[in-house]
Amino acid sequence: MCAGMNAPFPSPSAAAPMQIPGGIDPVPVPRNAPVREDGRIDLLGLTRDQLRETLLAAGLEPKQAKLRAKQLWHWIYNRGTTDFTAMTDIAKAMHPWLVERFVVGRPEVVEAQVSNDGTRKWLLRSADGQDYEMVFIPDADRGTLCVSSQVGCTLNCRFCHTGTMKLVRNLTAGEIVGQVMLARDALGEWPSTPEGRMLTNIVMMGMGEPLYNFDNVRDALKLVMDGDGLALSKRRITLSTSGVVPMMARAGAEIGVNLAVSLHAVTKDVRDEIVPLNKKYGIEDLLQACADYPGANNARRITFEYVMLKDKNDSDEDARELVRLIRKYQLPAKVNLIPFNPWPGVAYECSTPERIARFSDIVFKGGISAPVRTPRGRDIMAACGQLKSASEKVSRAELDRRAAEKEAALG
Ligand code: SAH
Ligand code: SF4
Repeated sequence: MCAGMNAPFPSPSAAAPMQIPGGIDPVPVPRNAPVREDGRIDLLGLTRDQLRETLLAAGLEPKQAKLRAKQLWHWIYNRGTTDFTAMTDIAKAMHPWLVERFVVGRPEVVEAQVSNDGTRKWLLRSADGQDYEMVFIPDADRGTLCVSSQVGCTLNCRFCHTGTMKLVRNLTAGEIVGQVMLARDALGEWPSTPEGRMLTNIVMMGMGEPLYNFDNVRDALKLVMDGDGLALSKRRITLSTSGVVPMMARAGAEIGVNLAVSLHAVTKDVRDEIVPLNKKYGIEDLLQACADYPGANNARRITFEYVMLKDKNDSDEDARELVRLIRKYQLPAKVNLIPFNPWPGVAYECSTPERIARFSDIVFKGGISAPVRTPRGRDIMAACGQLKSASEKVSRAELDRRAAEKEAALG
């Protein structure tokens, strides 16, 4: 598991937040125009078409715009270049024209931490002063970047620190792909070659619910997968959702990456409590959407995430019900058992190691792989789904109030 909590990061900036208008399903947030205070346009995060159109709008002839868009694309995503004057195949005379109008941005790094197990965590800040985090987890055979899709999360799963954040806004495609670019910068992985990379995998398991920010997540992941750029295979990217059922088919069709589903419970009562979205999209509908997910097969299984909460969802009966449900829907599945990572004010405890081992054993004997995830980066509080600066100290009563507010919005 990736990410973290309670790190000694400073409070989020006091800058006016962008509140999400309307209800929460789906969250209607206008796409941010990537215009900066200095009036220049940030090219990071634009699709190929948007890049060409931006050059056209700035006054280039269509043929020129097409050529320059292609060149810029290569420099930005294949070479990691942020300096227009270093783009040697673009005529020198054009450099000042580009510099005047555009930038190739990166998120601002507020703080970077390295764990004694090699896990790295960054606190990032957007141009409007919103903080979000990303985590890099190196392993022997891979390196996984845990990427955020929103600042905060509207869904308020009871065991998740991100859900307690008051301010929520979608990250732009540029802010999402910017995390990957920044990680590549930090790891020294330019130009982008397929061999010998440290950053090999991406999981959308940081802050936020990616399927509530569908367009930006899709556009950002398309940039990440583009062959003449970051060129990460869709097989190495996993999108994790808490179960936004109506968006799952589109995720399969338009993004096509691996799917992880935060199941966490097998009965309506318990899932309603810990993943309130379950009141809207129940377990059976969720599993049917998994069965319909395109591209899922035995070679590309759906991952079910299951956070182990003491005396809540960890009984033998729960494990057997999990096996029954996965079989009923004939899902090519594996189960990731996640030891719960507690945070101040939370009402749950982690299951004992013996209980987790027993649960894993029952699922495994049911014919389904059920590894227990090893917590990483505990010393820097890097645990996925809890990516949150903890300097915001909130009382239990305030947490309950926020939860009630969000649940009311769920209807
Ligand atoms: N919103 C998406 C993706 C981000 S959460 C989702 O819910 O799937 C990524 C994972 O971290 C989820 O499976 C989430 O349930 C898990 N997680 C959140 N808080 C946690 C905690 N305190 N301990 C362990 N896992 C947690
Ligand atoms: Fe949001 Fe995922 Fe946390 Fe639930 S677990 S509150 S969906 S980030």
